[in-house]
Amino acid sequence: MDRADPERARVRPASRTIVASAYGVEPSRLAAQVVEFGRRERLVRAGRIFFPLLGGALLTLPIPALHLASVPAFLLAALLLGIRRLRERSRVERLEGPCPACGGEPDWPSGSLRFPLTRPCAECGEFVTLEPERGARIARDERLDGSR
Ligand SMILES: [Zn+2]
Repeated sequence: MDRADPERARVRPASRTIVASAYGVEPSRLAAQVVEFGRRERLVRAGRIFFPLLGGALLTLPIPALHLASVPAFLLAALLLGIRRLRERSRVERLEGPCPACGGEPDWPSGSLRFPLTRPCAECGEFVTLEPERGARIARDERLDGSR
């Protein structure tokens, strides 16, 4: 096991199919590598960003004048980024495949994506809607208020 990056060793990307559709053409299928985070991973990932920022707030607390700006800024960043990671249930590591409109292979978006997602193709400019294949569910980011 890779000790240098335990997070990566524990959470393996899974292969998923994303359907790319555009107006008036046959949809194409994209191969996606998706990492899904369980409850524990989400807490660990949130803590890794929350506590260093909280530390920044505490470290700058005794500094006159500066602390007026730095403490609220660090606390706000800690909360916003921590909550964002807590809600992040899946991440698309890689997305590859042909554009349904032009057949080219543009650089598809990756990272924390919310589906369905509509983006213009970088090669032909056609708007392409990306959606997980029916039946292949990708964990959606959790809403804090419990709604979907
Ligand atoms: Zn295209």
